Amino acid sequence: MRAVVFAAPGRVEVDEVPSPAIEEPTDALVRVTRAAICGSDLHFLHGKTPTAPGAVLGHEAVGVVENAGAEVASTQTGERVVVSFAVACGVCWFCVHEQTNLCERAAVFGAGPFGGDLAGTQAEMVRVPWADVNLLGVPDAVDDDRAIFAGDVLTTGYHAATLAEARPGDVVAVLGAGPLGWSCAASLRALGVERVFLLDREPSRLALASAIGSVPVHVGERSAESALAEATDDRGADVVIDAVGSVEAYRSAMTVVRRGGRVVVAGVYAGESVELQLGVAWARSLDVRFTGVCPVHRHWREVMRLLEAGTLDPLPLVSDRVRLDDAPAGYDRFDRRLATKVLIEP
Ligand SMILES: [Zn+2]
Ligand SMILES: [Zn+2]
Repeated sequence: MRAVVFAAPGRVEVDEVPSPAIEEPTDALVRVTRAAICGSDLHFLHGKTPTAPGAVLGHEAVGVVENAGAEVASTQTGERVVVSFAVACGVCWFCVHEQTNLCERAAVFGAGPFGGDLAGTQAEMVRVPWADVNLLGVPDAVDDDRAIFAGDVLTTGYHAATLAEARPGDVVAVLGAGPLGWSCAASLRALGVERVFLLDREPSRLALASAIGSVPVHVGERSAESALAEATDDRGADVVIDAVGSVEAYRSAMTVVRRGGRVVVAGVYAGESVELQLGVAWARSLDVRFTGVCPVHRHWREVMRLLEAGTLDPLPLVSDRVRLDDAPAGYDRFDRRLATKVLIEP
């Protein structure tokens, strides 16, 4: 089969690779009808996260079940499904307690040896372990282009939005209007939060913010602090979501939040560190929460329901569509920040 593979740092290729097979009775094979390129794929492209040359990349997919192992009960051949980017076993203590992101056998598709060594989804076919847990049926009313978002970024944004625990009337600031920030803001709106501010310095991203009823703030033109102070009689935001994952964004979140407010850290961190003034955080009575990898399985049914109802519509995020053979060009545009979301059609 054809698949997008890592070639060398800075280079991906489309190659012929062996087709996957059922290895465990709990596996399913999914024929991919839609895959996507995501921000975290760039870490592999640039060799920042190790993966072997020839490894199939990608972790987002919608498709049709081609074959299911003998112990797979909840899905069958021919069903349209979305794949969870994060794989969980469904039976360990963490899975049973809905913290599937902390699963003892956690893995991520196409994420190299530290991600569990699973072949990725940017391919004609993908093997999905524990298919009963990691596949969700897609209703007819939800097309592939929308359904794929339930398996990753939209559900991740929804998770952060639930951790925000915003009350009616609260002012919520979302730092970063990329696909994650947009998903946080759209989910907050879907959860009934009326005053959502979306902060970025990219005009095209801010235009998408207005379309979902959130207030765009261009942080190149004015400071986040003054924008939120103005909206809250100088108190600061009730809740701030860091949807960037940079030291600068984290510091900004801790500054923009009011006394007694909440910070939700949703952006991805690895080796960064910051000095936390414990006395200041204590005296300001701050509630700081880290999302970690999203426990997709906790929220994706609800997200799919919101997609089916049309309450959430992530299609405006899609900037590019490429055929599988043209995926390297999609990576290139994404890497040069010319694309917000690239869909791949095998
Ligand atoms: Zn992703
Ligand atoms: Zn588990």
